[in-house]
Amino acid sequence: MSIISKDISKAVALLNQEELVAIPTETVYGLAGNIYSKKAITSIFETKQRPRFNPLIVHIPSLDYLEKIVDYIPEKAKLLANAFWPGPITLVLKKKNTIPDIITAGKDTVAVRVPNHPTTLELLNQLSFPLAAPSANPFNRISPTKAVHVEDYFKEKIKMVLDGGPCKSGIESTIIGFENDEPIIYRLGSTPIEDLENIVGKIAIKNKKDIAPDAPGMLERHYAPKTKTILTDNLQKAIKDYKGRRIGLLLYDDLLNDEIIDFKIVLSKEKNLQEAASKLYDALHQLDKEDLDIIIAERLPDFGLGKSINDRLSRATKN
Ligand code: AMP
Ligand code: MG
Repeated sequence: MSIISKDISKAVALLNQEELVAIPTETVYGLAGNIYSKKAITSIFETKQRPRFNPLIVHIPSLDYLEKIVDYIPEKAKLLANAFWPGPITLVLKKKNTIPDIITAGKDTVAVRVPNHPTTLELLNQLSFPLAAPSANPFNRISPTKAVHVEDYFKEKIKMVLDGGPCKSGIESTIIGFENDEPIIYRLGSTPIEDLENIVGKIAIKNKKDIAPDAPGMLERHYAPKTKTILTDNLQKAIKDYKGRRIGLLLYDDLLNDEIIDFKIVLSKEKNLQEAASKLYDALHQLDKEDLDIIIAERLPDFGLGKSINDRLSRATKN
């Protein structure tokens, strides 16, 4: 029997019993558990085979709830939360000592956000605790953007996927930390930097090497298909290099009519970066099922969400 269901009260009951439920968000599906339940949180790490040094994002129902999670909120964090919550930005702030160490991997900061999905907001409002919810995929694999992706990964290992339809944003949240009260980007994501800078001015991006291994969202190889994948600016050359092999193409808008290609997915015929982001992981899931020798991905324009998509594709292509 399928574990996919739209029954919010069943999800509430399971979470109250310290079980895990996969939940829909606007970014990707999350594997959720009560942040105060040692059993549930241990089970998140075990089910995902996620290393314990990789802290979890805490999901809360509203901005008002933030003061129960963190000790101190810098002015620019307030501005960003006001502007983008509910929505795909995660703030890393000084934690209250009631937040268990297993959530933060022993750090004194906690990652927190208000997700923008009606089903999950309803769920959070019916619970007496926040939800820790990392992406609902085994560690390092492609993130799930549909209920069926989660079911395919975990089958009977979890009791329920709460179905909220396909994720609208489609890539993970933008993670923002604070140093001397100034915001700094830890992970590119669904909220473009330009939008954040409109609210708080110029924001630096943390050098990947400075963060790893503390933030495995920043690990070089991540979000990866099983099939060998390359990212290129020169499609014609890449296709030529793999002549005679079973090639899958992941294209932004292009239609290469004259090529004999085994499998091809176009992310957005209209060159719409938002549409491309929402389709990205599903496209990688589909390509990965086609028994290809190589997936050739076209680099997207390097601004706005294009920057975040290129970031994910470059991690998917690391060996
Ligand atoms: P996921 O939920 O799977 O998208 O992963 C959550 C991301 O948030 C990971 O890259 C974590 O390393 C990052 N993260 C969570 N808590 C913190 C923290 N306290 N400081 C820095 N990064 C964090
Ligand atoms: Mg993840």
